[in-house]
Amino acid sequence: VFQLALAPFTNESDVSGVLCVFHDITALQELHERQVDFVANASHELATPLTAIKGFAETLLDGALSDQDLSKKFLTIIHSEAERMQRLVSDLLQLAKLDSSEYRHHVYLEPVDLNLFIDTVAKELSPHWQHKELSLTIKVDNSIPLTVLANPDWLKQVLINLLDNAIKYTPAGGNVTICSQFSEGLAQVSITDTGIGIPASDLPLIFERFYRVEKARSRSAGGTGLGLAIVKFIVEALGGRIWVKSKVNSGTTFSFTLPLAEKK
Ligand code: ADP
Repeated sequence: VFQLALAPFTNESDVSGVLCVFHDITALQELHERQVDFVANASHELATPLTAIKGFAETLLDGALSDQDLSKKFLTIIHSEAERMQRLVSDLLQLAKLDSSEYRHHVYLEPVDLNLFIDTVAKELSPHWQHKELSLTIKVDNSIPLTVLANPDWLKQVLINLLDNAIKYTPAGGNVTICSQFSEGLAQVSITDTGIGIPASDLPLIFERFYRVEKARSRSAGGTGLGLAIVKFIVEALGGRIWVKSKVNSGTTFSFTLPLAEKK
């Protein structure tokens, strides 16, 4: 997409030529379209729980309140839909913050002991593993100290989002393995599950905002479709890379790298 600017040359009073300037505004146009899409998607995602909340509240006001069992059922739905909106708003705020270059440039990076950090975050999530009867294995490479340069809040968010997905998309009784290792001068973390997997055709789109393989499954599991977009943004902002390998009905591995605090 080009934008054309014309400027006539004048020689005394006669026009002797015209200067044409073409600006390539493709990138700008694409950015604008992405922003419009993002707002439309976000509004749509917020509208869905809001419609449910309004509908069930109206039914209660119209008389269902006198039935105690029904009231409890409707209030439970209202509560869980409100929680979904809260998660969505929190993810949207997080992305808005990450998008602001001022915030990114003022974020504080510090040396973080990766293996200790993984252990702490995994333990924090243990009620979720137990709830789904999943077994968790942590395999850490202790042959070399893996001290990464990161912002602890960001790193925690990356691990939580990836582990949360592994829990959400792995049927009860499955396994999740977290692996850390030193690889080509960087720290590498892999999270492998024995879950439902991701079809090959969806893999290139998985990190896009609001992209889900199955909307209904993601929603019922409490997903917002923003988790992986946040993860990719953070990993790249920290100077790392993220990729995924998956096989339907067999499992998924997300791997990411992070720079070490001291070059090895
Ligand atoms: P959501 O909130 O829907 O989980 P994410 O951005 O975290 O959103 O993930 C995008 C989509 O990628 C999910 O809806 C799901 O379809 C797929 N996905 C992510 N992680 C996994 C996984 N470990 N196993 C299978 N599918 C996954």
